[in-house]
Order: sequence, then C-alpha cells, then structure tokens
Amino acid sequence: MAEFKNNTFFNLFSRQLKNQCTIGKSSYSQRIAKLDALQHAIAMTYRDEISEALYKDLGKPKVEAELTEVFPIIGDIKHAKTYLHKWMRKQKVKTPLAMLGASSYYTYESKGVCLIISPWNFPFNLTFGPLISAIAAGNTAIIKPSEMTPHASALMAKIIKALFKEDEVAIVEGEVEVSTELLKLPFHHIFFTGSPTVGKIVMSAAAKNLTSVTLELGGKSPIIIDETANIDMAAKKIIWGKFLNCGQICVAPDYVLIHQSIKNEFITACKKWLTNFYRAHPNTSKSYGRIVSNKHLERLKAHIDNAKDLKATFEVGGEVNADDKYIAPTIISDLNENATVLKEEIFGPILPILTYDALDECIAYVNAKERPLALYVFSKHKGNTKKIITNTRAGGTCINNTIIHYANHYLPFGGVNNSGIGKSHGFFGFEAFSNKRAIVNQHTIGATEFLFPPYSKFKEKMARLTIKWF
Ligand code: NAD
Repeated sequence: MAEFKNNTFFNLFSRQLKNQCTIGKSSYSQRIAKLDALQHAIAMTYRDEISEALYKDLGKPKVEAELTEVFPIIGDIKHAKTYLHKWMRKQKVKTPLAMLGASSYYTYESKGVCLIISPWNFPFNLTFGPLISAIAAGNTAIIKPSEMTPHASALMAKIIKALFKEDEVAIVEGEVEVSTELLKLPFHHIFFTGSPTVGKIVMSAAAKNLTSVTLELGGKSPIIIDETANIDMAAKKIIWGKFLNCGQICVAPDYVLIHQSIKNEFITACKKWLTNFYRAHPNTSKSYGRIVSNKHLERLKAHIDNAKDLKATFEVGGEVNADDKYIAPTIISDLNENATVLKEEIFGPILPILTYDALDECIAYVNAKERPLALYVFSKHKGNTKKIITNTRAGGTCINNTIIHYANHYLPFGGVNNSGIGKSHGFFGFEAFSNKRAIVNQHTIGATEFLFPPYSKFKEKMARLTIKWF
C-alpha cells in the first residue's frame, strides 16, 4: 500500500479497507436495516428535496422525478429486501464421483472496497441503484457523482453523511481530477456508469490494479419498425421514450430505421403524439425538460446545424434557445450518411429517421455499428422479430415498446462490448458486487489420495481409469 500513500483519498480508502471484513461479515438483518434506512430517506425524509434538486439541475418535471428517480430506487430496495435472504444462501452443487468423500458449494462474499462513479442524467437512480447492490452484497463504497448536476450531488452527499459512517459509505464530490485520483487506488471493484470514452479510461486504470469492473455505458440504440407494425402505437411509445428527460437517457431510442412504405404515416403519427404530450409549444410545457449544460446544448446544436447544412428535412423542431437550455423535440429525415447525428450517440431530443427496403439491409446497417445498449423492434410479424433478434447483438431489447426493460428487476441490465461490460439490477447487481467463492469440504479420506506419489504401474492404471469418474 506504500505506493498509494500520497493519494489524496488514501486515508479514506484505508479506513474502508480496515472496515471491509466487518461489513462483509454483516448479517442479513444488518444489511436489511441499512436498506430500510436508505428507503426511508428517499421515500420520506428527502423526497421533496430530491425533486427540487432535479428541477434545478435538469428542469426535470416532478412526475418524471418520481417515475424515473424515486420509484426505481424504492423498487430496487424492495426487490433486494425480498430476495436478499435467498441470494446470501450458500449454493450447493454436485461433486464428481472421483471426489468421493467431499461436498461442494459456493457462496457470494463481498468484494471489499468498491468505487461507484455515476453520471448526471438520472443522478439519484444511477448512484443509489449500484449502492443498493453494493450494500446488499456487504461492501464498503466510495461514490463519485457527476459534477454536472451539483444540486443532486450535494443532496446525495447530505443523505449519505446522515446514514453512514465514512468508513462504510462515503461520497467524494468533484470533477474529472477527483475521478482520476480515485481511479489510481486498488479498489476491489469499480462500478462505472457513463460514456464509452470514459469507460475505456476507467478500464485501463482498473487494469493497473487488476480491479474488476462493471461498465454501464451507452451508444446508439436503434429502433427497427417493419411494415406490419401498429404505426400509431409505435409512434406513441417512441415519442415517449425518446423525449423523456429530453432524450438524455442511456437507453433512449437513438434513431429509427423504418420500412420506406410506412415512413410518412409514422411521421404524421409522431407529430400527433408530440402535440398530445407537449402541446403546440413544448418550451412552455411543464412536461418537457431541459438540456443539462451549455456544453451539451452546443454539442446538440452542432448536430442540428450540420443537418441543416446537409439540407435534411426537419419534420418537426430544430429550435434552440441557449438561454433556457432548451432544444425543441426534433425529428429529422432525408439525412445524408455524413450527418454527424448518425455518427455519435445523440443523448438529446433529436430523432433521425432512416428508411429501408429489405430487412437484411437494415440488420446490416445496425451490425456495421458498435453493439448497442438497447435495440427496439416494432412489428406484428413474429418471423421478422426473431430474425432481427437472432441476427443482431444488444444489451437488451423491447418488442413493441421502448425503455421499459430497464424497469424489470428480474432482468439483467447492461450493454455488450462498446455499450458495457457486466450486468446490474436485482440479483445481477448483487452478483456484480460479489465474489463467488468455491468451497470443497473434504469429509473423509479422498479417492485421489490413492494416487499420491510415489507412482507405480498400478497407480498409472488407476489414474487412467479415474477419468471415467469425472
Ligand atoms: P461521462 O462518461 O462523461 O461521465 C460519467 C462520470 O465519469 C462522471 O462522474 C464524470 O465526472 C466522470 N468522468 C468524466 N470524465 C472522466 C475522466 N476522463 N476520467 C475519469 N472520470 C471521468 O458520462 P456522462 O456525460 O455523465 O453521461 C452520459 C453517458 O453515460 C452516455 O454515454 C450515456 O449513454 C451513458 N449512460 C449509461 C447508463 C447505463 O446504465 N448504461 C446510464 C446513464 C448514462
């Protein structure tokens, strides 16, 4: 540890390191008590402050704050409380005949001292979500929330200080330099949620200490709509999934690939649902959020300007008001393949529409890009749906809906390759923060002892025969 002594956070890390075995040995009831305290804090004590902080940081409407931040955290805690007993049980497995006299099982033991780095788009949900898994699995944790949502980060620091001692759970606020310094320490696990670019930085820092990682990343999540789809229903669910939180969602539909025969009907339905949800002027709607920062607003504006330069068709939207961090819900079609909006993850309220003639062409387009976090299919044709799923790879998929797979605690959540490594939520989150320890208990003399040296011709024959019993 001497090599880390000059690290700004060494003292905090060392205190958690000393405490990790005590927390790791904590009983089911002790862990439940911590989850109960967190639940009470989120659902009762700080509920209004959470909404206020989200409004200040993201202009998030109160209903969205409840739906996308408070509910998922409470849901995660309740799910963990229901199943923790089962998850903590030792898992018996079979033992091969050649190991006669032994029994085998594995246990989920805590990894130890964990680092949780979280993003700004759902600051509470994406910080407390992994923390719930870390606590359930018996870990200590240092949390680095995003600097982009300062009100949310300050409130989380207040909540954590009120509930935990620093040698168990601590929050360190700050910018990239803070992350960089923390990432030098030999954590036992790092749970990172953020962009693929920073995910690579985290993974290479973790490699120096052979720290295991869960990387919850992002990317371009496509929607495929075939000619059999219920167009009105598809438009309603896509407009909801795309413009919720102003498109700043890791699993937000990034772009649409639609059969060319139904494009116009789909765009008409999208316009109808946009007006239904946000009325004629979304800038005055209490249901529509804002862009988190000027930097992100400028990034999104550059996509809009680029599409205008390329003479794409703005079916709706395109307006930007930097003073209000407002970008109108925007749908663009007739895009040139060089459009920047088709190259990077959009992470904002811009929906490009591309058309295809044959499903194979559409699958090839998706497969030519990085593997997405989510891939959505709108179709009534089972054969088409199966063809799309079996010929592509994605972290998760909804058929005839968007986003909602995120909310099912019984499903693993996460990406694949560029969109993420490892899974979270429910049992999968508990597993990510646990070491599966294999244990063989030798009760009587073991059969293999007959094959210990010195080796004879007889033992040679026995060794050849033993293979049968494995
Ligand atoms: P980001 O990668 O810029 O930042 C995430 C965190 O990393 C922040 O706490 C930030 O301070 C820290 N960070 C930034 N640069 C760093 C560096 N060079 N070294 C070390 N740490 C650094 O991501 P963001 O802008 O906060 O969030 C948007 C991205 O996150 C999108 O790509 C989105 O798809 C993804 N995301 C993924 C999920 C998921 O569950 N898979 C959820 C939300 C967001």
